[in-house]
Amino acid sequence: MMQWSYAPSRALPARVQRHVTMWRKANEAFVAPDRPVVTFTFDDFPKSALNGADIVEKHGGRAGFYACTSLMGQRSPVMGEMFDTATLAELRERGHEIGAHTHAHLDCSRAQLSQVERDIGENLVALAEAGHDATVSAFAFPYGETTYSAKQWVGDLFATARGILPGLNMNEVDRSQLRAVELGASAMHRRRALSALDACITRKAWLFFFTHDVGETPTSYGAPADLIEELAARAVEAGAVLAAPTLGAVLSGVID
Ligand SMILES: [Zn+2]
Repeated sequence: MMQWSYAPSRALPARVQRHVTMWRKANEAFVAPDRPVVTFTFDDFPKSALNGADIVEKHGGRAGFYACTSLMGQRSPVMGEMFDTATLAELRERGHEIGAHTHAHLDCSRAQLSQVERDIGENLVALAEAGHDATVSAFAFPYGETTYSAKQWVGDLFATARGILPGLNMNEVDRSQLRAVELGASAMHRRRALSALDACITRKAWLFFFTHDVGETPTSYGAPADLIEELAARAVEAGAVLAAPTLGAVLSGVID
C-alpha cells in the first residue's frame, strides 16, 4: 500500500519550498512558560505507543497521540498493529490527548488546500465516528510537510500544529508549525534528545518529542522505551512539566 511507503520529495525545489514555508509564520504566538514544558507525542499511531503513555504517566504527565484515521485498525508491515477505537477510548480515559494527523496521511505540501481541508475534515469525522467526541485541538502534519496556506487554515481549526523541524519552541513561534525533536534508537538520536532537553530546561522553553512505535527493540520509526524513560525522568527531576499538546500550549501562554 502507498500509505506505508510514501516519502516526501527530496528534490531541490521541494527543499527550498520547505525552508520558505518554515520561516513564514502563519500564526504567530509567544512561548513563555513559568516552567519548562516537555510534550511527548506519537504519530500515526501504532498500539505500541501505549508503552510511551505508560512511561509518561509513571512520571506524572500525559502525552499526545496523533491519529491518522485511514490506518485505524490496520496492521502496518513495519510498525505492527495500529490504534483502534478501543485504543482511543483508553487513552482518553487515562487523560492523554488525541490529535488529528489527516485521514490519508496526506503530504500537505503536495496537495491543493481544498484537498487538505477535505482530508482533515474526514479525519475529524472518522474520529467522531470512532467514538472520540471530544474537541480535537491538536494537529501534526504528516512528514512535517506543509504550506503557508495550509498552516493558516490549520491554525484556524486547531490550537496547535506540530511539524518535524528540530528545535525548541521559545519566544516567537508559529503555533501552526511547532518544532519537534525526533526520538529514535541510534546514539545520535539519544544525544540530540538529551541536549534538546537540557536546552529546554536551561532556557525554559517548550520542547516536543515525536516518534511512532515504542518498545525494547523499536523499528527505524520508533523509540526505545528506556530512552523515553530517561528523558521523562530527567525532565521531571529538573522541574519540567510533561504536558499533552493543548495543555502545553496553555502552560506556554500560546493559547488562553
Ligand atoms: Zn505520520
